[in-house]
Amino acid sequence: MPSFCDQEQIRRVVVFDLDDTLYLERDYAISGLAAVGVWAGCQLGLTGLGANMLARFQRGERTGIFDAALAELGHPASPDLIGSMLAVYRQHRPRISLTPDAAELLDDPPRETAFAIITDGYLDAQRRKLRALKVGRRGVRLAVCTDRWGRDAWKPNVRAFEHVQQAFGLGPDRYTYVADNPAKDFHAPLRLGWQTVRVMRPERLHQAIRPGDVEADRTILDLWQL
Ligand SMILES: [Mg+2]
Repeated sequence: MPSFCDQEQIRRVVVFDLDDTLYLERDYAISGLAAVGVWAGCQLGLTGLGANMLARFQRGERTGIFDAALAELGHPASPDLIGSMLAVYRQHRPRISLTPDAAELLDDPPRETAFAIITDGYLDAQRRKLRALKVGRRGVRLAVCTDRWGRDAWKPNVRAFEHVQQAFGLGPDRYTYVADNPAKDFHAPLRLGWQTVRVMRPERLHQAIRPGDVEADRTILDLWQL
């Protein structure tokens, strides 16, 4: 397969994770919960659901938000309704933007460096995020959603990383993966011999380190430090 690097001088490929690496996942959750709230108001005549869910998220609740908010409003939470709410959440048009450090870096790549993305999550949702962030127009050559090959291909599976390596055709030591979550992000690239960098944004959602987590070679607080 002809690679990106056949035609031009690319000596290094920096591959980014998406959620909490290039934008704040918190903003996506807020945008999605608001969309579900609007939908519930129109479709179910339920007022106040959006505000209730957002307040829960802001208080630090991360699971069971739909059920808890419906219960508080006295509305039965049938599996069908929860399924519809999840679909609205994943299919809404997200109101998110790149963090300033990410925007600056993507718009002005260092010499002989190419950018790519590997992101996990439901295909529909991740594609909508990529579109909202306009990464294709900002110097990202290749964006890979692991879910295009199904749930088994999500990180820490190595498949997306091998795909990117083939697409650019450079040796493994020429790649760096920049991501936030030691629970799944660094296993595969380290196995392939890539460099790894963990970005620890203070506002990120995944904070705790657990047994089985794999740390990156280097840790930074934002992409200005890259
Ligand atoms: Mg992430």
